[in-house]
Amino acid sequence: MLIDLHLHTSAHSPDSVLKPHRACERALDLGISVIALTDHDHVWSHAEIDQLRARYERLAILRGVEVSLVDSYHAVVIGEDFKLDAGPPLTPAQLKARLDACARPSFCFVAHPFYHTPERTAELDALLRFVNGIECNSPYCCEKGHLVVAGRKVPLWYADALKLCSEFRVPALFNSDSHHEGTLGTMATKVDLVYSGQDEFVVALKAAVTSLVQDL
Ligand SMILES: [Zn+2]
Ligand SMILES: [Zn+2]
Repeated sequence: MLIDLHLHTSAHSPDSVLKPHRACERALDLGISVIALTDHDHVWSHAEIDQLRARYERLAILRGVEVSLVDSYHAVVIGEDFKLDAGPPLTPAQLKARLDACARPSFCFVAHPFYHTPERTAELDALLRFVNGIECNSPYCCEKGHLVVAGRKVPLWYADALKLCSEFRVPALFNSDSHHEGTLGTMATKVDLVYSGQDEFVVALKAAVTSLVQDL
């Protein structure tokens, strides 16, 4: 199945013009089975996300958030009971404490890891010690320069990010990081999983083998 775990909507990301219902319709048109709503430092309420879930039953809509961290790092968290009750920005330790406070399963990945700082810093390492995945490509990741590898557009630090996935034994994620309709489907993750609910899905994703798809 195809999944896109990094999307910003106009509902809660001031820099996005992507309306939530259009994100859902476009994802379905493109054959994407799972999307995560990951607005900047805002977690959707259950009442609000349930309305969208009821309207698009064929699409799995995950409850997520992109958390701003110190030193310009960003982490995406997917979790039905994740609470963002401090910041931004959060330190890696503050993020970890909030993940540990979840009773239900969560999935956390570093977004665009080398985008702001090309070096592997102590702050990045602090995150890598507990995250469940690493975003290795998105249109945003390629904004400061890209390579074409096997016909695919990838960021300059693509190989470094993939190496981190091996080192920390976590899946690589490929997302659209969409802020408008046009980027949906430009990048997504292919994964061999069956969806049977958010909690089950995020647990299975931690050990999943993933691959990059582009230009659906
Ligand atoms: Zn970001
Ligand atoms: Zn983002």
